[in-house]
Amino acid sequence: MSDGHDPLRPEQESRKNRRPRDFMVLTLSGVVVLGLMTLSTSAGAVEWVLGAAVLISGALAYYVGSQTLTPPRETLNDLTGAQRPPTPLSDSGLTPLIQSLPFPALIINPDQRLSIANARAMDVFRLSRDTGLLITAAIRQPDLLTAFIRVAKTGAREQLEFSAYDEGQSWMAHMHAGPKAGSVLMILEDTTAVRRAEQARADFLANASHELRTPLTAIAGFIETMRGPAREDKDSWDGFLEIMFQQSERMKRLVADLLSLSRIEFSEHRSPSTQLDLTVLVSGTGLSLQPIAAETGIRILLNQTDTSHFVVADADEMQQVVQNLAGNAIKYSPSGGTVTLSMGQSRTMAEAPGDCGRQIEGASRATLLVPRASAEVPAVWIRVEDHGEGIPARHLPRLGERFYRVDESRGGSIEGTGLGLAIVKHIMARHRGGFMVESLEGTGTAFAVWMPRFQVPLTQ
Ligand code: ADP
Repeated sequence: MSDGHDPLRPEQESRKNRRPRDFMVLTLSGVVVLGLMTLSTSAGAVEWVLGAAVLISGALAYYVGSQTLTPPRETLNDLTGAQRPPTPLSDSGLTPLIQSLPFPALIINPDQRLSIANARAMDVFRLSRDTGLLITAAIRQPDLLTAFIRVAKTGAREQLEFSAYDEGQSWMAHMHAGPKAGSVLMILEDTTAVRRAEQARADFLANASHELRTPLTAIAGFIETMRGPAREDKDSWDGFLEIMFQQSERMKRLVADLLSLSRIEFSEHRSPSTQLDLTVLVSGTGLSLQPIAAETGIRILLNQTDTSHFVVADADEMQQVVQNLAGNAIKYSPSGGTVTLSMGQSRTMAEAPGDCGRQIEGASRATLLVPRASAEVPAVWIRVEDHGEGIPARHLPRLGERFYRVDESRGGSIEGTGLGLAIVKHIMARHRGGFMVESLEGTGTAFAVWMPRFQVPLTQ
């Protein structure tokens, strides 16, 4: 504390000034006593010893006083509550510190060579050594290098976002003045997840507006035709109105799916709390879909739906899962085909995909959602199988992405929003369950979901 306020200082100064005076007083009084005794010829050996004792105690008082007046620096700081000045860490002290950091970190010396880089920083910059490398060899991102040199010169902290060699990985570099003048400490923060979430949001908005604009453009086009060139041609109006109706229905479906998706995403982090018998829900939903299936001559078969399976779930959401999967199976089946809804239980969550998702010989498979629930808990599964044309293997892993449609790339004409499977995936995520698909072209497709089950109802 060389420049701050020191509360002990005034007292220390005044006591210091008093010391020579105290010493003089004691010495003089000792000398006076001895002189008087000598003059009065009464000074004997005892008086001389007393006089000498007065002199010695004066010197002692001076010595002791000077000791208490200069306490050690730490004691002073402790007394005043002032902060101790930082003890600079040596390079050898910094190395284990940098290496133990759970994020990439490195220090560059004033000679612009690497002092120390931890293993994570070596990975990010693909360094061959953790020390001694020239900064220009270690950092290949020109913007980052320029910022780094500026910090070394000015000591002012800076931060800069960059992507390393691994495309798609982005980092925020925080640069500070290092332990020695001209050295720089850099720590890296992984911003990949944030950037990906931003990108996903932007893509979602772009896709949603594109999907909504298509039917809207069609409707607006027909309105213009009916008001202009076809104004008098009333016979053609029925055809136009039918297309406008279809397009408005498409918009309605899209808006409904978008709303469902955002509602489910909003509640995804709150676990469901209602206990229900999944068997009742699956067979009920299957039966309710029969009239729709019958319109295209498709039969819905319910398989193994006679045993109760208890789960903690949101009934509306689980109904939507069955509706979306069975609805797709109906939609993508040829007329006269069959769609089978089966259920079953597995000893553990880990065994469930083998039980419900490996039944078509020679099929390709993809896990669309890995369950969050423990692999050891008992499971229940639902499988929806059709005998449609199947899905080429390369598309399987991308099913469940919002707006991903296989038909679009096939140039097919089956109506859809590309959101149905994304909704299923989010619902199953909320229920800590799994989701997979198996498909063989020319044979058919099966989607399966599984989730934790209870042996008996929790409460009667
Ligand atoms: P959509 O509204 O387009 O059906 P989904 O998200 O439900 O959207 O499905 C995404 C895509 O997956 C569909 O466009 C379709 O190409 C494919 N798909 C889904 N289910 C089946 C199925 N049972 N058989 C064949 N293809 C399917």
